[in-house]
Amino acid sequence: MAETHQSATRSHCWSCGFEAPSGGDEWETIEVVSVGTMTRCPECGSTDVSTGR
Ligand SMILES: [Zn+2]
Repeated sequence: MAETHQSATRSHCWSCGFEAPSGGDEWETIEVVSVGTMTRCPECGSTDVSTGR
């Protein structure tokens, strides 16, 4: 497994592989009752997104 030296945390979509900085403008956020704010992929609309903690 390759290890990068990026300081910025990146998130990626498990469905289509879209990747962008966590919390960046590239991502869409939606409000879901009982869950709260979720990150949604702008490419495929999936909420199955890694938030890369
Ligand atoms: Zn996606």
